[in-house]
Amino acid sequence: MHNVLKETLQILTESNLKKNNKLVNYQSADELKAILDLDKNIDPQQWNEIFIWVKQYLDYSPNTAHPNFINRMWSGSNAPSIVGEIVTAFSNTSGCTFESAPVATLMEKYMIEQMLEIVDFKQGEGQMTTGSSNANMIAMMVARNQTLTTVKQTGLFNQKRLFAFVSQDAHYSLDKAANILGIGTDCLIKIPTLDNGKMDTEILAEKIKWVQDNGGLCFFVCATLGTTVRGAYDDIEKLLKLKKKYHFWLHGDGAWGGAVIMNDKLKDKYLSGLNQLDSFTMDFHKMLGSNLMCNFLLLNYQHLLSCTCADGDSSYIFRDNDIDLGANSLQCGRRVDSLKWFLDWKFYTKQGFSDRVERYYALAEFAQSFIEQSKYLEMVVKCSSFNLCFRFKSNHNNQNNLNQCLRDKLHQEQIALLSLAYIGDKLVFRLLISNINLDKMKLSNLFERLITIGREIECH
Ligand SMILES: *Cc1c(COP(=O)(O)O)cnc(C)c1O
Repeated sequence: MHNVLKETLQILTESNLKKNNKLVNYQSADELKAILDLDKNIDPQQWNEIFIWVKQYLDYSPNTAHPNFINRMWSGSNAPSIVGEIVTAFSNTSGCTFESAPVATLMEKYMIEQMLEIVDFKQGEGQMTTGSSNANMIAMMVARNQTLTTVKQTGLFNQKRLFAFVSQDAHYSLDKAANILGIGTDCLIKIPTLDNGKMDTEILAEKIKWVQDNGGLCFFVCATLGTTVRGAYDDIEKLLKLKKKYHFWLHGDGAWGGAVIMNDKLKDKYLSGLNQLDSFTMDFHKMLGSNLMCNFLLLNYQHLLSCTCADGDSSYIFRDNDIDLGANSLQCGRRVDSLKWFLDWKFYTKQGFSDRVERYYALAEFAQSFIEQSKYLEMVVKCSSFNLCFRFKSNHNNQNNLNQCLRDKLHQEQIALLSLAYIGDKLVFRLLISNINLDKMKLSNLFERLITIGREIECH
């Protein structure tokens, strides 16, 4: 094992040096298939052969830490959490019981306490989940089971119909949750957004009333706190007023934009009323840079996770439901995600994360003014937080096509990996500021390259 470890670290170090300036080694799927030769038979237990695939894996994976990797809501990863992941892989245990993962269990509990304090849920509880998709579903499940108190035993048959509400810009994981939980996607009502991208709460109130008048149960509203494309924050205060009247569960999906809880100024600006939500989730692996996956779900109540999620005879595994985290989880085996999280937290501290978020915010403002000043680019909607939705401006009769070509060309020429999204029928670049290596200079350079290539395409 010792030599294997040494070799692995050496390969990683070399790859890291080699990659420093390179974004991606672009190959089509067919080309890559030929290179990898996955069907090759090797002599058993030959490390040399194994390491060839390890090197290829590294060579052909995009360098997500590169400043021009602006494809996702995350990029690169914090060094302490990389250390944490390596150690986690070595210890190979499951975070479901204290016995099997004593340190990880205490770290997870500690971190959940820290987050409860920041979010200001005074009598709350929480758990790490496999990501916000999963956390959104668990929140919806808790709400469902609180509304129909026998649903766990009797199922949804012969019950009043349940309705959930989200903004039309909410994440698709809510549709999946409605599917999984038996609500049905037809009963997930999508509320139109205002011009600023926030859910229109007047229309929400009308829809809720309509559902109630027709015998349905309005059990769940999800406030998207930083929408995936536009970065808009639904208005928590307005939703709280409706909650008072209609008594639904109000969940906050802060997968992306929830990171502003670290910064008091931005927290006040975007999340006023946060501590009165019924539940809240956030991905530490997005804006805050922990290794994938790193998510937590918080409830503004105690003992609801266990009464919602615990089921069946688990006496063979759990000894003490006060300390064994698996008892309140939908999983049996639980990957240890808490070590990396804890190490990041201690290394950077809340202040460090606060500074990071503030810096991203300032960079987004800078990017917006750059785009507005350029005669070749245009903002398609105003930037509301960290997301920039812009496109290359042109008289070309098919602007969507042109921007698609531009994106593909930037990728194939290994210059930048940007993401595209639709706003209405306009195809836009969705630039997300979440890379610790990004600065004003690098952003300006990226825009310049994008403009140059866009103008080249336009001339053809
Ligand atoms: C990314 C995202 C999700 C999904 O999170 P995963 O951790 O990838 O499952 C959900 N909601 C929003 C708003 C997101 O941005």
